[in-house]
Amino acid sequence: MKAEIISVGTELLLGQTINTDASYVARALSELGIDMMFSCTVGDNNGRLKGALVQALERSDLVITTGGLGPTEDDLTKETIAECAGTRLVEHEESMKRLKEHFTGRYMGENQKKQAMLPENATVLLNDRGTAPGCVVETKEGKLIMMLPGPPSELVPMLQNYGIPFLMKRENASIHSLNVHVFGQGEGAVAEMLSDMTNASNPTVATYAKDGEMFVRVTAKAESAEKAEEMCRPVAEQIRQRIGDYAYGINVDSLEKLVVAMLKERNRTVATAESCSGGLLAKRITDIPGSSSVFEMGAVTYANRIKTQLLGVPEEMLEEHGAVSEPVAAAMAQGIRKAAGSDIGIGITGVAGPDGGTEEKPVGMIYVGLCDEKGTVVRRVKVFSQRRPRSYYRNTAASFALDMVRRRLEDLPL
Ligand code: ATP
Ligand code: MG
Repeated sequence: MKAEIISVGTELLLGQTINTDASYVARALSELGIDMMFSCTVGDNNGRLKGALVQALERSDLVITTGGLGPTEDDLTKETIAECAGTRLVEHEESMKRLKEHFTGRYMGENQKKQAMLPENATVLLNDRGTAPGCVVETKEGKLIMMLPGPPSELVPMLQNYGIPFLMKRENASIHSLNVHVFGQGEGAVAEMLSDMTNASNPTVATYAKDGEMFVRVTAKAESAEKAEEMCRPVAEQIRQRIGDYAYGINVDSLEKLVVAMLKERNRTVATAESCSGGLLAKRITDIPGSSSVFEMGAVTYANRIKTQLLGVPEEMLEEHGAVSEPVAAAMAQGIRKAAGSDIGIGITGVAGPDGGTEEKPVGMIYVGLCDEKGTVVRRVKVFSQRRPRSYYRNTAASFALDMVRRRLEDLPL
């Protein structure tokens, strides 16, 4: 199936909004083996949208539009498409019901109702996060036009939950994806390791960077979901083996989720003492439901005085090595383990920037200490790029600490 995208919106054309929708749609559809042929952006203008649509329908089987489904004057995607496809707009009952429910107890202007007007005979794609539904129209020539809303928070679930299933049903196919999660290797390095696999078409293999981590997604298309999963599994395993112990799991969601599950399984507890990460590690652990059985205590020990009072980090050590140092990270881990009486203690200390860096201790220099019954280890956090915002270093420090716990529990090299 040949497809193209028309992004509708003057704000996109003028560069005021970054066109993340086009990138999302293109990646999602190419993962399904749909051939993406063109992508263009038009302003909120009836004539030019029509022009783009006519051209797109000449050369592609599927045209996806994003934006312009809302209630305002400049939202004219549906009107224009109905005109092109030779149909008219009619009220869609379910969407009108949803719209009225949404406005219960509030004033609903006439213009809002426009959102429930959809091209006759269109297949409706429900909007679970907003008021404007999407839809798919089939032209007399059998070509498809899929209309999706502009806001990414609405577009993503609509495409995933309704748009893609619609396309798969039409192709009599099912899809399945497996994500191989990776920490400690950049996207570039992983892409290189998998360079002979990323051109395959079924399953497709694609790399994604996310919050200082990355994952590799394997997607297969087959006549049933089970068959598609069967096709993904060996490829995902092969990827996992190739990446080695940097790959921490398949479809496990996040490092914190994995680590909490591992601690539970082994009946182990952890406590954290954080400086530069400001409690983010504790936050990420306690984000996981049920973490109370493995997480005992999290302290944010910012001031040196507190590091000494609460964790017993010797004053002389702080003076001699400075707070951002290997021995202090070790002492913090030991101190919090003792204070909480937990199996594992973690200490994090570093320079998160943007100020405060020196030649000797630059921004991004972070140490993580881990202490358990086997002893104490300290590692310097590997950061992949300099001059990142504070949030990046803090998050990377927390991820690094979680990864150290995972490695320790699995007896992997630290
Ligand atoms: P609404 O009901 O919110 O009006 P809509 O479907 O009419 O939705 P637009 O009016 O075109 O969509 O855009 C609404 C907002 O969605 C924009 O202000 C912008 O923030 C975001 N948006 C629109 N198109 C894109 C895009 N291609 N990429 C990322 N964000 C987008
Ligand atoms: Mg709008």
